[in-house]
Amino acid sequence: MAALSRRSFLRRSVAAGAVGAGILYGLTGRAEAAGSGTVPMGSVIDLTRCDGCKGEAVPACVAACRTKNADRFPEPVQPILDYWPQKKHEDWSQQRDVITRLTPYNWTYVETVTVEVDGVAQEVSVPRRCMHCENPTCMSLCPFSAIEQHASGMVEIHQSACMGGAKCRDVCPWGIPQRQAGVGPYLDIAPQYLGGGAMFKCDGCVDLLEAGETPACAAACPRGAITFGPREEMRALARRRAEEIGGYIYGETENGGTSTFYVSKIPFELIDAAIRKRKAEESDTRPGRPGMPVGVGNMLDTPTGLALSMLIAPVAGVAAAVAGAARVMKKGDDA
Ligand code: SF4
Ligand code: SF4
Ligand code: SF4
Repeated sequence: MAALSRRSFLRRSVAAGAVGAGILYGLTGRAEAAGSGTVPMGSVIDLTRCDGCKGEAVPACVAACRTKNADRFPEPVQPILDYWPQKKHEDWSQQRDVITRLTPYNWTYVETVTVEVDGVAQEVSVPRRCMHCENPTCMSLCPFSAIEQHASGMVEIHQSACMGGAKCRDVCPWGIPQRQAGVGPYLDIAPQYLGGGAMFKCDGCVDLLEAGETPACAAACPRGAITFGPREEMRALARRRAEEIGGYIYGETENGGTSTFYVSKIPFELIDAAIRKRKAEESDTRPGRPGMPVGVGNMLDTPTGLALSMLIAPVAGVAAAVAGAARVMKKGDDA
């Protein structure tokens, strides 16, 4: 779909996309707000509602996300080469069933930890995925311009332009994007000397949002713990809910502001500490199980981040052009 028609389509459809949240929380005025133009979307993840789908083999949100995105999961070309000049590569293709962390085959997961609050142990389940930042570090610092922020605010990686250098993961405060080697345009350019695969993450079900539908994880949740709607309404909803329960919000200021607002009765500092403790006990140092560092800043607001983004911008244009030309040549060879 061309960019312009896509935007027009979005304008017509976001109003309908908000309906699910309205039913759950009795929100009003959404159609008017959404109908006035392109509206950035957002979500609330209410940890007082989520029970981690206890008793189920796979949480409903995770199962729904996997089903919805199954035909976009990577199929690596064998043999998978190491990243030149390193002697390693990341391959999740033999572990596609892993649901306990983010992987290229699992774009959302639920971290359940025990937190001690005022001497009482409490279990909390936290669904995790991309936060869809307002000013996405991953996008600004991608050297290949492979990441797009849609008018709906959802942030999507285009694997057709991604070289898998994992810069996006390095600069994301939560290390969200995950890498699979043996896929992507680097295979058509110089697979022995360039690239490392492609990166994968939640795209906010932008196709569904633009079609006026509810993202798969939210639609599947039996407890109404995930709600999508216009971002400012979601912010207001999160604030209201936090006030009602005397609780806290995460995602409103982190990384300079995101489109995902977690609400919890338990302070996020304690949740973050519990996640880190559990990972340390399990000696789990691999990416894919993000903590919840409160108040984490946006690298683009620092002089280093700003300088990096300015350096990367011209390189990104050239790299994207080279990758595009290689894909066109490959198509010609294949024809
Ligand atoms: S968000 Fe909903 S579907 Fe996902 S684990 Fe929590 S209760 Fe289950
Ligand atoms: S959470 Fe990370 S991957 Fe997602 S938009 Fe923000 S910086 Fe990018
Ligand atoms: S919004 Fe879509 S892609 Fe993202 S976690 Fe939910 S189902 Fe998966």
